[in-house]
Amino acid sequence: MASLSFRNVVKQYHQGKQSLQVIHGVNAEITDGEFIVIVGPSGCGKSTLLRMVAGLEEISGGEIRIGERVVNQLEPADRDIAMVFQNYALYPHMSVFENMAYGLKIKKLPAAEIRQRVDKAAAILELGHLLDRKPRQLSGGQRQRVAMGRAIVRQPQVFLFDEPLSNLDAKLRAQTRLEIQKLHRELGITSLFVTHDQVEAMTLAQRMIVMNAGRMEQFGTPEEVYSRPATTFVASFMGSPP
Ligand code: ADP
Ligand code: MG
Repeated sequence: MASLSFRNVVKQYHQGKQSLQVIHGVNAEITDGEFIVIVGPSGCGKSTLLRMVAGLEEISGGEIRIGERVVNQLEPADRDIAMVFQNYALYPHMSVFENMAYGLKIKKLPAAEIRQRVDKAAAILELGHLLDRKPRQLSGGQRQRVAMGRAIVRQPQVFLFDEPLSNLDAKLRAQTRLEIQKLHRELGITSLFVTHDQVEAMTLAQRMIVMNAGRMEQFGTPEEVYSRPATTFVASFMGSPP
């Protein structure tokens, strides 16, 4: 586990001769073990921010640190992060065990260590009785949990979630939200969770970052953001009482 800091992080996308600045100097200090929600309207830069932490997108300026390490120069595989996407894909021909073990086999971890990590993740996610099944023999919720299991077994220092609930029906969304909360209670891994949904943000966040047009408008507890919005944007986006 580790703290996570953004120091004046900037991002420009280049398209031919045009450059478009989409992140304008984000600063945030996230404490070890915190569950942070990044919320804001579509196109405000949430995914870009997450992808820069993951190393899927280069930063154009500033610095991202995990603990004491400056990670923005490191390869994605060396950053100790795990990312859970909206559209997770399991390997259809592999069992649940193999799906969860795959990334660790690539890293050439000893078989006993792999077994131990998968068993531990399976216990937390209540997948222990399903390890021999193939993805097609699972319910939607069980598949979602296997996708999370794949992330857990890597024992990351930071968890990144990019709108993992947005394609799910209401029942599965509520179930998965509980699952994510339980995961955080048990493992306490520093987490960044992105959503455009204010209610989801209020429900899940220990602290939340409200973004608008590539800028951080406010960083605070759900209570602070809702009751004492820092800007008129935050007040109207959160539906704060006047
Ligand atoms: P969000 O996740 O909040 O919806 P994004 O981070 O996906 O927002 O996008 C932020 C802005 O950056 C948007 O204006 C989007 O069109 C733009 N953008 C995202 N990816 C690229 C890209 N690869 N090239 C150019 N512009 C991009
Ligand atoms: Mg996005």
